[in-house]
Amino acid sequence: MDLSLSASERAFQGEVRTFLEQNLPEWIRAGARATPSVFVEPDIAMEWQRILDEKGWLVYHWPKEYGGTGWTPMQRYIFEKECALADAPSLPVLGLRLLGPVICQFGNEEQKARILPRIRTGDDYWCQGFSEPNAGSDLASLKTRAVFEDGRYVVNGSKIWTTHAHHATHVFCLVRTNSDVKPQEGISFLLIDMRQPGVKVRPIIGMAGDHEVNEVFFDNAEAGPVNLVGEEGQGWTIAKFLLEHERGGSCFGPKLLADISRIRSRAKETADGDGSLLEDPEFARRLARIELEAQGLETTELRILAEMAQGKPPGPKTSIIKLVASSLRQQVDRAALTAAGYYGLNLETQRPLYGNDRPEWLDDEASQLAAPTYLNGRAWTIFGGTNEVQRSIIAKTVLGL
Ligand SMILES: Cc1cc2nc3c(=O)[nH]c(=O)nc-3n(C[C@H](O)[C@H](O)[C@H](O)COP(=O)(O)OP(=O)(O)OC[C@H]3O[C@@H](n4cnc5c(N)ncnc54)[C@H](O)[C@@H]3O)c2cc1C
Repeated sequence: MDLSLSASERAFQGEVRTFLEQNLPEWIRAGARATPSVFVEPDIAMEWQRILDEKGWLVYHWPKEYGGTGWTPMQRYIFEKECALADAPSLPVLGLRLLGPVICQFGNEEQKARILPRIRTGDDYWCQGFSEPNAGSDLASLKTRAVFEDGRYVVNGSKIWTTHAHHATHVFCLVRTNSDVKPQEGISFLLIDMRQPGVKVRPIIGMAGDHEVNEVFFDNAEAGPVNLVGEEGQGWTIAKFLLEHERGGSCFGPKLLADISRIRSRAKETADGDGSLLEDPEFARRLARIELEAQGLETTELRILAEMAQGKPPGPKTSIIKLVASSLRQQVDRAALTAAGYYGLNLETQRPLYGNDRPEWLDDEASQLAAPTYLNGRAWTIFGGTNEVQRSIIAKTVLGL
């Protein structure tokens, strides 16, 4: 396993850096920096999406025949790392990273032609309707039903924690199409248009004041048979494929390390007794430990990429990435809150925290963002599968226990 950059990879790194310097506008970087939630709002994300699509770098993780770049895993890593270091916003992952690969893998030709281009242009904005009030970790117990009658599916039930459903035009859903078989075998993967009378969205405001997630209700919502992905009953297989993409294949290490470096600079400015917070042995030790763990995470991410470069699938090891990255994210946010000192105690709930209408900072931007980011980040160890669920997957499928 060789993790060092080759000459051509260094050249690629230079190309990405130059592109970012020349094409990622400061207002987008500022908006991304001042977003406490995991997902940035569409005003920023869609503009960045457009810029990347114009360059041909938007769907780098899709197969080449559908617009992918054909990058090696290491090139993908370099690109994501440089984006993180340049404060690029996260992209709308639900369509680009989750549904896109599902359609490439399981969709029929008509679906590929209809759906993939509209994900790229942003004409369709997708959300993910998996979790239900009584089906989160135990997803197989989901109850939202889709009954095929008069040439279309009629859907009834509800979903919860649906990220950005209030922005979405469409939702990809797991629905029950058969109750007479094993729970997993009766689930199908259905695409539903949100812009119909049978679909209602109710906001859930998080404790930091962000509107990121929602409840979604289906009351005789309709979906034509062309919106069934794969076969009836194949939903569980498709969901497992999708969750592997959701949990891994991302590069968390670089962003965590960049944030740790910013916290170090901030802590130098924060008074603590006669010196600065950075001189406090307990804080310095905590930061050093997090940094070492983030470096370890980065190495593990590179190791998985090196295996992928040899044709091996990322597999359940992505659960290790999700588990460690989520825990580290929360520790980094906590250190940022400590470094913000007194002003970090202020919880600004007005949104957005960027642009002309943003609230006046009481102190600097980092202090003002510390509390909302910390509170919002509590969700890291829940979404995409909780830490406990990841540990069970690691125990069973990675360690063979
Ligand atoms: C911010 C945010 C965004 C989200 N976005 C989406 C989205 O866009 N689409 C979507 O479909 N879902 C989304 N989710 C839902 C998320 O996937 C679920 O919250 C998650 O899977 C946990 O399910 P639950 O909330 O029902 O908790 P539960 O499954 O009820 O779990 C409650 C507690 O019990 C523990 N537990 C449960 N089962 C086990 C077990 N077998 N062994 C050990 N411990 C266990 C859990 O770890 C947890 O601590 C989002 C959640 C959050 C917080």
